[in-house]
Amino acid sequence: MMAALLLRRDKKSTAAHLKSDLNRTDNSSGVRQLQELLDSVLNPEKPPADTEALDWCKCLIAGEEGFEEFCKTVRSYDNATLCGLVWTANFVAYRCRTCGISPCMSLCAECFNNGDHTGHDFNMFRSQAGGACDCGDSNVMRETGFCRRHRLRTGENVPSVPRDLLLMSEMVLPRFIICIIQYLRDGYTEPDTSAERDLQKVLQQLEPQITFLEELTKMGGAMRTVLTKILTNQQTFKDLSMGQEENVFAKKNYENYLSALKNSGLVSVEEKAQTGAAEPTRGSETGALGLLDGQSIGQRKRVKLSSSTKDPSIMDSLKHKCFLEELLFWTIKYEFPQKMVTFLLNMLPDQDYKITFTKTFVQHYAFIMKTLMKSQESDTMSNRIVHISVQLFSNEDLARHVTEECQLLDIMVTVLLYMMESCLIKSELQDEENSRHVVVNCSEALLKNNTYWPLVSDFINILSHQSVAKKFLEDHSLLMLWMSFVSFFQGMNLNKRELSEHVEFESQTYYAAFAAELEACAQPMWGLLTHCKVKETQEYTKTVVRYCLETLQIWFDAIGFVDELAPNQVTFHLPLHRYYAMFLSKAVKCQGLDLESLLPDQEMLMRIMVHPLQIQASLSEIHSNMWVRNGLQIKGQAMTYVQSHFCNSMIDPDIFLLQVCASRLDPDYFISSVFERFKVVDLLTMASVHQNTALDGEQERPMLEGALTFLVILSSLRIHLGMADDEILRAEMVSQLCMNDRTHSSLLDLIPENPNPKSGIVPGSCSFEEMLSAVADFKAPVFELGGSMQQGMYTPKAEVWEKEFDPIMVILRTVYRRDVQSAMDRYSAFLKQSGMHTTGNPWPPYKERTPLHPCYKGLDRLLHCKTLHIVIFTLLYKIWLDHSNMSEHVLCMVLYLIELGLDNQVEEDKGDEEPCIEEHCHDSWFPGTNLLSNLHHVINYVRVRVPETAPEVKREREPPASTSAEASNFGQNSRRLTGNWRENVREAQVFSLVAERRRKFQEIINRSSTEASQAVRPKSSSTRWVPPGTPPQLVTEILEIHESMLSLLIKLHQKLSAKQNSLSATWLEDMDANPNRHAHGDGITAIERILTKAATRSHQSKRSIQEICGKVFPPVAPKKNSPTAKKTMDKEERRQRARERQQKLLAEFASRQKSFMETAMDVESPDTEAAMDLGASEVKESEVLYDCVICGQSGPSTEDRPTGLVVLLQASSVLGHRCKSDEAKKLPTTDEERIYPADTCGAAHDVRLALMQSFFKDSSCLQSVSIGWDGGVYVQTCGHTLHIDCHKSYMESLRNDQVMQGFSVDKGEFTCPLCRQFANSVLPCRPGRSTEVVSWHMPSNKKTSVLVKEVEDLQEQLGFFPTESNLSKEMELVIKDIKNTTQRKYMDYGKNPGSPDNDFLFMYSVARTNLELELVHRGGNLCSGGASGAAKRSCLNQLFHVLAMHMRLYSIDSAYNPWTRLTQVAPSRDNCLDDERPEVPMLFRDCPSLLIIFVLTMPQPLRKEHFICLVRMLYNLQYTQALAALSAKFSPEERQAWSTSGTLKKNAFNAEKSYEALLSHVITELSKVKTVYDVNTDEPSMLSSSVWSPQSIEYSLQQFCLPYLRLSCLLQHHLYGDNLSGCPEEEEFSGLAGCLGLLDPAPQPSNPMYSASCLDWTVSAFDLMSQWCSEVTGLADTQTLLVQDLQWASPHLLHLPDNYNTIFQYYHKKACTACKKVPKDPALCLVCGTFVCLKGLCCKQHGICECVWHSQHCGAATGIFLLINASVIIIIRGHRFCLWGSVYLDAHGEEDRDLRRGKPLFLCVERYRVLEQQWVSHTFDHINKRWGPHYNGL
Ligand SMILES: [Zn+2]
Ligand SMILES: [Zn+2]
Ligand SMILES: [Zn+2]
Ligand SMILES: [Zn+2]
Ligand SMILES: [Zn+2]
Ligand SMILES: [Zn+2]
Ligand SMILES: [Zn+2]
Ligand SMILES: [Zn+2]
Repeated sequence: MMAALLLRRDKKSTAAHLKSDLNRTDNSSGVRQLQELLDSVLNPEKPPADTEALDWCKCLIAGEEGFEEFCKTVRSYDNATLCGLVWTANFVAYRCRTCGISPCMSLCAECFNNGDHTGHDFNMFRSQAGGACDCGDSNVMRETGFCRRHRLRTGENVPSVPRDLLLMSEMVLPRFIICIIQYLRDGYTEPDTSAERDLQKVLQQLEPQITFLEELTKMGGAMRTVLTKILTNQQTFKDLSMGQEENVFAKKNYENYLSALKNSGLVSVEEKAQTGAAEPTRGSETGALGLLDGQSIGQRKRVKLSSSTKDPSIMDSLKHKCFLEELLFWTIKYEFPQKMVTFLLNMLPDQDYKITFTKTFVQHYAFIMKTLMKSQESDTMSNRIVHISVQLFSNEDLARHVTEECQLLDIMVTVLLYMMESCLIKSELQDEENSRHVVVNCSEALLKNNTYWPLVSDFINILSHQSVAKKFLEDHSLLMLWMSFVSFFQGMNLNKRELSEHVEFESQTYYAAFAAELEACAQPMWGLLTHCKVKETQEYTKTVVRYCLETLQIWFDAIGFVDELAPNQVTFHLPLHRYYAMFLSKAVKCQGLDLESLLPDQEMLMRIMVHPLQIQASLSEIHSNMWVRNGLQIKGQAMTYVQSHFCNSMIDPDIFLLQVCASRLDPDYFISSVFERFKVVDLLTMASVHQNTALDGEQERPMLEGALTFLVILSSLRIHLGMADDEILRAEMVSQLCMNDRTHSSLLDLIPENPNPKSGIVPGSCSFEEMLSAVADFKAPVFELGGSMQQGMYTPKAEVWEKEFDPIMVILRTVYRRDVQSAMDRYSAFLKQSGMHTTGNPWPPYKERTPLHPCYKGLDRLLHCKTLHIVIFTLLYKIWLDHSNMSEHVLCMVLYLIELGLDNQVEEDKGDEEPCIEEHCHDSWFPGTNLLSNLHHVINYVRVRVPETAPEVKREREPPASTSAEASNFGQNSRRLTGNWRENVREAQVFSLVAERRRKFQEIINRSSTEASQAVRPKSSSTRWVPPGTPPQLVTEILEIHESMLSLLIKLHQKLSAKQNSLSATWLEDMDANPNRHAHGDGITAIERILTKAATRSHQSKRSIQEICGKVFPPVAPKKNSPTAKKTMDKEERRQRARERQQKLLAEFASRQKSFMETAMDVESPDTEAAMDLGASEVKESEVLYDCVICGQSGPSTEDRPTGLVVLLQASSVLGHRCKSDEAKKLPTTDEERIYPADTCGAAHDVRLALMQSFFKDSSCLQSVSIGWDGGVYVQTCGHTLHIDCHKSYMESLRNDQVMQGFSVDKGEFTCPLCRQFANSVLPCRPGRSTEVVSWHMPSNKKTSVLVKEVEDLQEQLGFFPTESNLSKEMELVIKDIKNTTQRKYMDYGKNPGSPDNDFLFMYSVARTNLELELVHRGGNLCSGGASGAAKRSCLNQLFHVLAMHMRLYSIDSAYNPWTRLTQVAPSRDNCLDDERPEVPMLFRDCPSLLIIFVLTMPQPLRKEHFICLVRMLYNLQYTQALAALSAKFSPEERQAWSTSGTLKKNAFNAEKSYEALLSHVITELSKVKTVYDVNTDEPSMLSSSVWSPQSIEYSLQQFCLPYLRLSCLLQHHLYGDNLSGCPEEEEFSGLAGCLGLLDPAPQPSNPMYSASCLDWTVSAFDLMSQWCSEVTGLADTQTLLVQDLQWASPHLLHLPDNYNTIFQYYHKKACTACKKVPKDPALCLVCGTFVCLKGLCCKQHGICECVWHSQHCGAATGIFLLINASVIIIIRGHRFCLWGSVYLDAHGEEDRDLRRGKPLFLCVERYRVLEQQWVSHTFDHINKRWGPHYNGL
């Protein structure tokens, strides 16, 4: 009742009334009234779109003052000290690593710019998931980085909030919130119905309400406190949430809510029932891994696990106790609507809220994951989740708090486990049938789409907090759970080698697998490792190691692995191994733990090494093309495995683990395992022929190389064995730089990632820059004209090449094999350049290693074991004898191993040696294990088993009389093997590695075997090891050897140097002198180095070497031992040589091509030169010949078969953009700054023409000016000529050839067939006879008056129409092309569009444009001179000819011939008809334009004497104009004074050439009518300040006339080929006047007043001047037209600020003036500063986007735009565009396209100059490649 009453009243007064009621001490009635009102207003049954309720709420909350006012008031009580600004995707934010405590820290632009981060390591970034500003939060960042506002803690002195201000809010908001909740409940339907997408609809309707909530949060701390209270109050929730029993609607939607809640648990109700029943049947001793059941998913079986060991409370359904909880619940259900997320995050600055919210978030964590997995748009949802969770978990206190109180860790691990369990399959590794191991299925969406990442990233985030990580490491059950999680990835994505057919489709699951191992396993591992760095944390490491080993044991058991791998499979994923390896490494390196205490028994070690070793062998197999049938993806895996982002977590731990195994296991066992794994055991025979059942012939060599390389890496790599972090960084850096010069960013990317990549910091990143400057030189970005733009590069210093280049590290880190070659090439180039090694190809240098950490000393035993020595001996022997499959690489690696052995001696401890060593079958080879002593041990005979066909067999030898002990021993040993072994093991081996290895393994297993493994073994041992196929008949032969390793080395030395006795007996003594000369060189050097080392370390070796060297050897070893072997060797060599030859040819070709291009462009071919040499003074009798670049014939250009120049026509507005000031205009970067376009040349000319047109006859106006400043046509040529008919057929062929890209043939575009320059037309050459040229050019002594008459007569001659010929047709065609080049509006300046007058103006202006542009290119003047050669390269002469032919067709309006007005004193004509406007007075006419008109309209060719006559007569006019303009600048007094003083000189001699007399005359004449000088009388005070002296007057007159002289001179230069003589700038006037013959060529320094001396009057000067002046008297606006500044500065692009940020900050959020929106892709015209919407539909007009449209209007189809969001410049040229690159570079001289790195960028002045240069010289088309059509869409 009451409510109804209230409802009817005005909202504002109701609010005021209620508020006062409520403020009373007894406010019960007020409360009741309010409740009733709210009951009816906030009725959830009303559709939410009805905003009446919202309005009511606003009014009620605000009370009488109105909502806006209320907001302001509340905001004044804001006590927040945090910024907390929340942003969504694509927002530009900052990150400062110097200020950040948490790596996730970020700042809004305002806080960043208001803080001090100078010199900090910061970057700008575009937010992907959204975020919030951390300014003011000292948990996340250092206070020094706070902005001014948040450092001041403004909150502390804010007054407390008056009680009644927020009273209404406290009462109304709970009701408002429950109302929203009810809408959410009501709108929700279970998503299995088709109505699923209706969620969006519900949200849309609720938009205003949620926006209102968001607005409230922005009112600051006071309002947030109120909201927090409401959201967290349990009583309010209880009272309002349940719904009133009597309200059916409320009841219904409450039930809806309950049912939604019921499904919120991890385990659905049905599943719960199932597991409940299954419970008793399972034992729990194997942890969580009992198999539950399997259901078929495609071919693979999906496996489900029990979840019995997980905390049931985590799996349960949710229960809610406050609004916040239910709101979050619905937020999740509705898949994180953006508005809700923002609302929830906006509240975070309130600390109470933050804690409660974090707890609530954790409480819902399992539910979030469940929803995420079901979501259709998991990507968006992931981003939103992380947007929230990053804010919560980056704060250590909060994270620890919820870890302690809410089991955060348990929840996360459980949830991760649960998530992965949904996609498990049975592992097929090892035992396909009986495996009990389960792995994730990488083809499931969960892995493929990376859906798990938000959870993993949260987990990594909280593990970065020490306190949380400690909790994790202390909780053993959690660790166990985690290990079982990791084991889900162990052995995933198994590869099976395809043996018969190529795999049908290439599975791409490997991406998912590598990503999963890195993100889900390795990252958390690195996170944990950062907390295990000191002695105090030893216990943690011990625990982890223990669980690792336990889990590994479980894994071996589950896959049924005993001692032998199933063949032809490999998985790259062994996270358990890697966990174990990395914790071991940390324990030894940082925690001082003893390695021994962390190692398992020998048997376990043997097992552990198998899988990592298999990966190494597989890598080699993949590179040897043994996996080609598996497709390219397997190469992808091999590359990813070693790639910089993965190597730290994959190959490095693997190698380290193998090193650990090698250091503890028996070295003979280990070495033989390696060769067996690499399948090259069969090769290691001394027989010339062998069989290999595992490898094809062509795979043997690469596999042998692979095995040896691996051994070298294994025994020399020290990354985890003793190198310090800095050393590692240095080695990484050096290896990357050696491969290629690198940019800073690519180097940063290539250095393996930090253990914790989220921080974006590289190991020891503080020293990254220092390290870089220590090892590399910076090559600043250079711009090669016409070349590509280079970036700043780092290149290794010379001493790095000399001392640090490590080929082994390079091999380890190369992803692409070619990089190894590249490093070697660069190394050779360095050696050659520095003169260290100049002949032949150098070998990879040997590099000394960092000493081993004592724990790993055992590794050196690998180099001192008999097995390896036998291999070395055998290989040396085979290389010496040129056996097949031996390569230089093999020798190189063998030598490397020997040298490593020599450098890493094992302290001999006889007692420690293996007792069983006597029994070894190969024991007979060498007496001990020390390499040094084995080196000189002579092997006499070796027994080999070879096929009967082998060459050894044919050689019928007597068995040696006294077989050495070695051989017999060997026989005995092999006989000692049991019969069973004998059959299975191939006895063809010189030594039976395999048998040995197996026996050892067996022994150890027997010693400490478990029953379980015993039970399985027989099976595996009997199934494998039977060699397939029947072995061929073998014969035992005994080879006579009589060599030691040393003697073999010396023989190889001879072989390599191709010299007998290459080492003299005394060479050793000579060696000692200079040890350094051995560091670099080829194989010979390497052998010498080794021999020297051996000699210095052992006397016996020394003696032995001297002995061998002293002997005279028979001729070099028998080369042709095996012809087939030789053949293959040769073949390989030949192939190699062919490859080299080809490469050399290519390089030569490229350089030749390049030099050709240069030639073609700079120096003309003699014929072309002749063609252009029309004005040459030499007499030539013959016709000019042209070369056709298409058909290759040369001949004259004729009327019938004309030849033409290849030209590019382009419209240009460069001239129009010139300004008066030489300084470039500044690009505005604030709202205050602006650019005014009115002062440009183009605008000034437009104004002048329009002004004239308003007074004078249109046709006359159109002959008095030039146009083409904007949109004029510029003609360029590459100088090549072709027959026009040849060109036509060329175009036809282009049309059919659709592959031509970048230009459109239909528009006539093509590239010059010779030089490939872009062109679009052909300019016909005039047929020329040189005799004609001569007469044309002849000097004359005729009097001026005679010439004037001759000129007049010539002008009277009617233009004759040339006879129709092919040439004339082509000439008209090119005129058409010229017209089509520019837009209509640049041609139609007249009042009648399309009239001949317009055409006339346009045509002579084309000539003007080209002359003016040439002037611009020459720097604005002609001071630099230029030989006639320059004219030849230009096509102006030909262009003039074509234009002249065309212009002759027009008849000039002869009633008013300017020539007569110029040269005769005519009776003043007053016959001006009333209806007609007057002609343009001579004083207003543009002299250069008149000159061009005369030249082009007179009969061709024009004689030079006539040309000079024209120039002279026009100079008179120009000079008079100068006087008139000057006089207008005088103050009246000055004018008076000059007038008076000049009158006196009028009668003097030569008065007609006296500036004073003439000036006086002009002043008198112009003063006759007041209007001329009167206009400016208002502002004379300004002008009078400068006093005019004779000097300043002369200067001013010269300046006024200079542009005319320049143009005339240039014209003369092109027409007659006269040289332009250079001169100093201050003498330009006299120089040019002399050149034109106006002045005596010898300048008279005594008289500086040249300008008047150049005058040459044929009639009375005073009369003529009077006549000209009389024309202008009586006209309005005279002064504006009289006074004009003809000088223009050279064109400039806008001046840009140094720092890119200045531009970016202003423009990236600036609104477009056309559409008033902030463009998605803003761009900026660098010519005029116009801001446009690139690609925006908003500003599209007539189907043309704004950028293209602007390019047409601003640059006549040429546009230069800076893309604000990318820092890149694009060029638009007509219908094409290209990316030009960036003129902003970072501190390392690199571009940052798209601002990906976000580092500060600075203007690269050189690049910008190049850009400007290309613009001014119109060379964009020629220099830039990669053009594409833009379809008007930019
Ligand atoms: Zn901020
Ligand atoms: Zn701030
Ligand atoms: Zn900072
Ligand atoms: Zn031709
Ligand atoms: Zn060319
Ligand atoms: Zn522009
Ligand atoms: Zn726009
Ligand atoms: Zn727009």
